[in-house]
Parts: sequence; C-alpha cells; structure tokens
Amino acid sequence: MTTSAAIIGGGIGGLATANYLIQHGWTVDVFERAAALPDTGTALGMWPEALAALDSIGAGDAVRAIGSQQRRGAIRRVDGSTIANINSHRGTAVLISRPPLLRTLAEGLPDGVVKFSSPIATIDDLAGYDVIIGADGVNSRVRTVVAGQQVDPEYLGVSALVGWAPGETDTVAETWGEQRIFGISPRDGNRTNWFAAYREPVDADIPAHPAAFLRSTFGHWHADVRDILARFDEESIIHYRIKQMPKLDSYIRGNVALIGDAAHAMTPNLGRGACETLVDAATLGAALVEHGVEGGLHKYDRKRRKHTQRLVTGARIMNRLALSTRYTGLRDGLLRAAVQIA
Ligand SMILES: Cc1cc2nc3c(=O)[nH]c(=O)nc-3n(C[C@H](O)[C@H](O)[C@H](O)COP(=O)(O)OP(=O)(O)OC[C@H]3O[C@@H](n4cnc5c(N)ncnc54)[C@H](O)[C@@H]3O)c2cc1C
Repeated sequence: MTTSAAIIGGGIGGLATANYLIQHGWTVDVFERAAALPDTGTALGMWPEALAALDSIGAGDAVRAIGSQQRRGAIRRVDGSTIANINSHRGTAVLISRPPLLRTLAEGLPDGVVKFSSPIATIDDLAGYDVIIGADGVNSRVRTVVAGQQVDPEYLGVSALVGWAPGETDTVAETWGEQRIFGISPRDGNRTNWFAAYREPVDADIPAHPAAFLRSTFGHWHADVRDILARFDEESIIHYRIKQMPKLDSYIRGNVALIGDAAHAMTPNLGRGACETLVDAATLGAALVEHGVEGGLHKYDRKRRKHTQRLVTGARIMNRLALSTRYTGLRDGLLRAAVQIA
C-alpha cells in the first residue's frame, strides 16, 4: 500500500518535499492557492546545504546551470567605501531568482500533482491522507493546528522593496546606511537584482510611488546604487514587510508537520530562509521514507527545530546590526571583526 501526503502550499518547501516523496513511491497532492507559479520574485542565495538538498531530489545541477556562482561579496558605506569584504568559507553559493527555482522544482513533478487555485481554509477535509504538511508560508493556517492556537509572526518595523534592472553585474554588495540597506547582486537572464530595506513605523503604509520613494531615499548614495536607480524596471518592484516567527514548541502534531516559513520565518539578513526550507524538505522526506510516519515526524522535529530557531535569532541580530540608527562606527568595527572571525 502506498503512503500519501497532502501538502498545503506549492512554494519552495512544498514543491521540494513533493519531489522527494514522489521519488520514493509516495502519492502526493500539493494544494496551492495561486493560479500559477509566480513570474516575479527576488534572487535567493543557495548555500551548499541547500544545494545538497536540491541534489537529493535531482534538481541541483539544473539550479547550478541556471544560477550564477558567488563566493565573494562586500559590505559598503553610503559613500562607496568598503566596511568589509566577505569571502565565503562555506563554499560557493548559487544565486537564482525565485521563478526559475520554482519552475525547476515543478518540472520534477508529474502533471496534476500541483493543484493550482486550491486555497485550503481547513485541513479537516484532508483526513484521508497519511501525512499533512503545512508548507503555507509565513502566514500559515496549518500552524494553528500544530501550535494548538493562533501564533502570528512578529512584524519587525522593517520593509523591503525588491526588483531587477536590465543588464548584468558582477557586483555582490550591500550598502549599509543609517536604518537603510541597498543590495545589488547578479541574476539569471542578463539582469541585475536589487533590494532596498528600511526601518519604518509599524503602522506605515506601503509607499504609494515606490520608484519615487527609492530615488528620494537612496538617490544620494554611491554611484553603483544610483546606477540601479536610473535603470530599474519599475513594474518589477515588490514590497515585503519583514516578519519573523516566535519559537514554536513543536513543528509537528499528530500526523501534521510544518516546514519552511510556516515554522521558522526569519529576516532575510543571513540569506537562509529558502535554504533552510529546502533542508527541511529533504530532512522531512528522508525521515518519513526511512522511519515511517510517526517515527519520521519526530525525527524531523528533533533534527530541525532547534537549529532553525537559532537561525531566526541570528538573522534578527544581523537585521538589528545592519539597520542600526546610532553608533554605526561601532557597528562597522563589529562587523569587520565578525567577518575576520568567520
Ligand atoms: C526580501 C526577501 C529576500 C529573501 N532572500 C533570501 C535569500 O537570499 N536566501 C534565502 O535562502 N531566503 C531568502 N528569503 C526567504 C525565502 O524567500 C523564504 O524563506 C522561502 O520562500 C520560504 O519558502 P516556503 O515554501 O516556506 O514559503 P513560500 O515561498 O512563501 O510558499 C508558500 C506557498 O503557500 C501558498 N499558500 C499559502 N497559504 C495557502 C493556503 N491556505 N492554501 C494553499 N496555498 C497556500 C502560497 O501561495 C505560496 O505559494 C528572502 C525573503 C524575502 C522576503
């Protein structure tokens, strides 16, 4: 008899888990509320652990072929001078934007596995499945079932605008000003990715004219930033409010598990959210295949919960450091020391 899983959410975590389980003989349905895969989204840095998780479902080589390899980066000041150079000792990261990553994951699945336009309001109708996996992102509904109560992510008073500009770059740099960061990185398809993060009051509205807001806020920064502001694609701009998850006591309850942002949404400052989501998918898949449903779910929770919760804390510390209001000289010194120790 085959084992079956219902996965709520056809994002990075849901599609990766579906690949793993189907490759090991499971029957899987993925319920995705959107009508199709997205065609916009920011660049994601895939670290070696994430690439290993992608290899475990046969998608690693495709991601390496599409993405661009990155080992070095820099943190700069508003005037363009360097605060710190970062040479990764953890191996080469591959930068890939969300749409081709999702396409690659979806291409590994048989037709009909992903049921688009299928928002799940309650898991009560999914009782026939052996396992239910909540891969439904930062505002997860499945989380209420696992936590036994509603647990909302915390909004940190930080927003990010992300998008792309036509043309290539080999720059990988973040520029840190007071309460603001501007990031530039290469992207597949002859484009350059950028993001702008900024502190704001928690009840602030989304900027009505993001392009004008960006030019007035960052227009006096160094030449590489001004160059992006002069040529970005205004239609590509997406706004995110940055949130993080409080610690959950468990990522599992009964036959239900949470993965990815539903379990451990973190600020993007360590560039690890999607990577950890992929590691969740491979770990949960392997645990279920090797240990069955009950043993596998417990093994997954033991292997992943504490580690990912530590990263949520680490990403928050980095977020505070990067968006400091005062003592930026001290901040820059601490960062240089941290980079040297790392
Ligand atoms: C600005 C920014 C930059 C980032 N940069 C990086 C980076 O460089 N590196 C990195 O590793 N991570 C990065 N991240 C984090 C990364 O994007 C997330 O951690 C990752 O997307 C989480 O994947 P997921 O599958 O858990 O959730 P998601 O990707 O959010 O997918 C959830 C899916 O569930 C669907 N869904 C939700 N509710 C329902 C429902 N009720 N019924 C059916 N479907 C539903 C949604 O439509 C969506 O498709 C960044 C995030 C942000 C905001």
